[in-house]
Amino acid sequence: MIRTRFAPSPTGYLHIGGARTALYCWAFAKKQGGTFVLRVEDTDRERSTDASVQAILDGMQWLGLDYEGPYFQMQRLDRYRAVADELLRSGHAYPCYATKEELDAMREGQRARNEKPRYDGRWRPDHVQRSGLAPPMGAQPVIRFRNPDAGEVTWSDLIKGPITIANSELDDLVIMRADGIPTYNFGVVVDDIDMEMTHVIRGDDHVNNTPRQINIYHALGKSLPLFGHVPMILGQDGERLSKRHGAQGVMEYFDEGFLPEALVNYLARLGWSHGDNEKFSTDKLIEWFDFKHVSRSPARFDPDKLRWLNQQYIKEADNKRLAKLAQPFLERDGCATGQGAPLASVVALLKERVSTIEELADAAVYFYRELEPSAELKQQHYTADIKPALEDLQSRLARIEWIRAKINEAVKGVVAEHKLKMPKLAMPLRVMVTGEAQTPSIDATLELIGREQVLARMAKQLQAFPA
Ligand code: GLU
Repeated sequence: MIRTRFAPSPTGYLHIGGARTALYCWAFAKKQGGTFVLRVEDTDRERSTDASVQAILDGMQWLGLDYEGPYFQMQRLDRYRAVADELLRSGHAYPCYATKEELDAMREGQRARNEKPRYDGRWRPDHVQRSGLAPPMGAQPVIRFRNPDAGEVTWSDLIKGPITIANSELDDLVIMRADGIPTYNFGVVVDDIDMEMTHVIRGDDHVNNTPRQINIYHALGKSLPLFGHVPMILGQDGERLSKRHGAQGVMEYFDEGFLPEALVNYLARLGWSHGDNEKFSTDKLIEWFDFKHVSRSPARFDPDKLRWLNQQYIKEADNKRLAKLAQPFLERDGCATGQGAPLASVVALLKERVSTIEELADAAVYFYRELEPSAELKQQHYTADIKPALEDLQSRLARIEWIRAKINEAVKGVVAEHKLKMPKLAMPLRVMVTGEAQTPSIDATLELIGREQVLARMAKQLQAFPA
């Protein structure tokens, strides 16, 4: 039975790198009919926050990544303690009383001698026996793992291929702090064992931790899961993705009006491929996903491509759903969407032209309130020669049945009567009624804005025409 997990530390928002890792683990578990687990690694008491836990849960829910859990490491302290005791008893771990000052001095000395900074093993039991070092009175020790001195650690990484690290490169890491809280490398192993993980997939910033973790599995006599390390995400400039490349928190994409299926599609494709497919459903992702096609090199985040995908998904999305998503944006913008044109109809008219829900809402504003045209637009389109035709149209619009076909007929009638070209009339009309020079077809636009509003706006704007 396949079991994968996502194990974020709640020290910030759920960023897109984490979301992508979660997505790969989720898709793989789904594909294999397995289980995907969410485990919150909240042992960093200073940096973990409830808001961040919430942001993670919100992000997972929004992206549709369902999971077993969430489990919280802080609720499992007894278990880590018990496993640490087991390691103490079997001689794979020992208490270490070195103070912070001592450790700093140790590292400084190593640096001065051009050695790699590492714990020198001074509280290893064999060393203590020889040196007669005695635990200081009343001091609370940390617990260190007794890393093997010789040999090497090897695993076949699902993404990076075979990796080997010599044990001589590793020192005795702290597994339990003096306050009884496990360190990352220990908590993660205990949990991955207890939660029966078959695949441990994570960012490749953890590659260096994996050999340490493997040694702990061996000490506990447990078999290893498979490991896979996903390369990181870079910005367009090749730098590590950061704030200045745009939004990083998953829920910021919600705030900006992205659809979750677009972000899922984008993140899936960012660092994984299936032939030439750029746009695919989540079902297809599940059907196709494998680790073989996860790229070994870092991916570059391309905001334009994400917008393009979002645009494709908006075009296909149900109008009622889009209306519901656009409504809060419009309300923030002072539009009472309960009155006037049904928002779903407005959305249907506009959705081909936008790439985010925010843009959709922006484009919908003039259906709900008057927008004053810019001075440039007025200057360009409000000319004395066209005024009589607009007045004619005004009176025709007052009489007709208010449906798109009749509005179209009225506009065409005026164009013919006054011997105009269509844009000559349609452009000022657009600007007068919507405040903008670009709108969907004018008859459909007027129909939705409603007769009363159209006539009122025309009357007001006609006063701004030169005599
Ligand atoms: N809490 C770790 C992180 O957020 C988890 C790494 C792992 O998946 O093992 O980076």
